[in-house]
Amino acid sequence: MKDRLEQIKSEALAKIEESSALEKLNEIRVAYLGKKGELTSVLKSMKDVAPEDRPKVGQMVNDARAVIEEKLEETRAKLARALREEQLRTEVIDVTLPAKKTVMGHRHPCSIALEEVERIFVGMGYEVVEGPEVEYDYYNFEALNIPKNHPARDEQDTFYINDSILLRSQTSPVQVRTMEKKKPPIRIIAPGRVFRSDEVDATHSPSFHQIEGLVVDKNITFADLKGTLAQFAAELFGPDTKVKFRPHHFPFTEPSAEVDVSCFKCGGKGCRFCKGSGWIEILGCGMVHPNVLRMCNIDPDEYSGFAFGVGLERIALLKYEIDDMRLLYENDARFLKQF
Ligand SMILES: [Zn+2]
Repeated sequence: MKDRLEQIKSEALAKIEESSALEKLNEIRVAYLGKKGELTSVLKSMKDVAPEDRPKVGQMVNDARAVIEEKLEETRAKLARALREEQLRTEVIDVTLPAKKTVMGHRHPCSIALEEVERIFVGMGYEVVEGPEVEYDYYNFEALNIPKNHPARDEQDTFYINDSILLRSQTSPVQVRTMEKKKPPIRIIAPGRVFRSDEVDATHSPSFHQIEGLVVDKNITFADLKGTLAQFAAELFGPDTKVKFRPHHFPFTEPSAEVDVSCFKCGGKGCRFCKGSGWIEILGCGMVHPNVLRMCNIDPDEYSGFAFGVGLERIALLKYEIDDMRLLYENDARFLKQF
């Protein structure tokens, strides 16, 4: 019996010594100390031992158990320590490595320019409104004093859905839609996409953006228009910017003018940017034609107003000194991230 125990003990200790994994130790624990383990089977065979020898054998079994348990615990601790050291060695986190950068998108120069224009006019008490891009011929032309046979239609050739529906060629129909819905005082800007059947080149695109402005109230004069646009130009291009009004013709305003700003590159002396003239054309404007007011049921004897239209791309091209409009539509991230 004693030899048997010694054999079990040395066998168990040898197996523990050899084992290199924590799971293996558990298997050994079950095999020797478990309910059906080797030591337990020795205890079960106690009935074959002479009664006077039983306490002694029992003591020997307990000693063997204690030795095996101690060895198991010692080896378990050793393996756990080795495992942790191995983890520390291999799972190194280098805190000095540069972090992975999230690539952020970038605002388009047209969006930046639009927000700038909106900020200026909202600051002057204007409301920002929008209108449909697919528009009735009536709103795009007729209600703006451009009847069927008017030559202005040729200059604004657009895309027709049918005889009476088209892709709007200007943001001006929003003037009419606003005046139909709202009585004066009216003070709005209406930014949005417009369409023309133009070939793509450095200064043309079949789709671009305009910002329309409209003010209607009692006693609105050309002086109000001049003051408003001078303020707008100063805020957009710098406080020293001067404005110049050149007589022009638009069917829906009378009188009408085109507005130039003094070149913000050379201050008006003349440079490559302003083609030597010292002035840069930025928008068209005028006093709302009495016919347009009448069509919207506003009495031109009681009310007057002014309107203007700015090309958003034109503003962005000028402000960021971009010389080809096509760059604005190509969505090349290398180009866009400069702004
Ligand atoms: Zn210049």
